[in-house]
Amino acid sequence: MLAPPDREFEWIIAQKKETKFMAKKYNLENLRQVDFTRFINTPIREVSGKKLTLCPFHTEGSPSFFIYPDNSYHCFGCGTHGNAIDFLIKKLGYSFEHACSILEEL
Ligand SMILES: [Zn+2]
Repeated sequence: MLAPPDREFEWIIAQKKETKFMAKKYNLENLRQVDFTRFINTPIREVSGKKLTLCPFHTEGSPSFFIYPDNSYHCFGCGTHGNAIDFLIKKLGYSFEHACSILEEL
């Protein structure tokens, strides 16, 4: 059996007011695995273990947006790809820190 991958941690520093800093530690590996399909409002169907839906990033008539078992996504129409954190940044316009804080709450 393969050993689990090392957990990846990253410090996100957010400036609070002018002199106070707040640091929060996020487990990015866990956050990337959070189900982000709740932010997609088109029907999603399963195709050979992958999820398929209309791309949230471009207009299309037939679905070409795949979500893979590792929770990464790729669109064969416009080429966008990423993970749950990327999705919130790209689709919802969140900052990296805000995306992490939202995913952590889910
Ligand atoms: Zn697309």
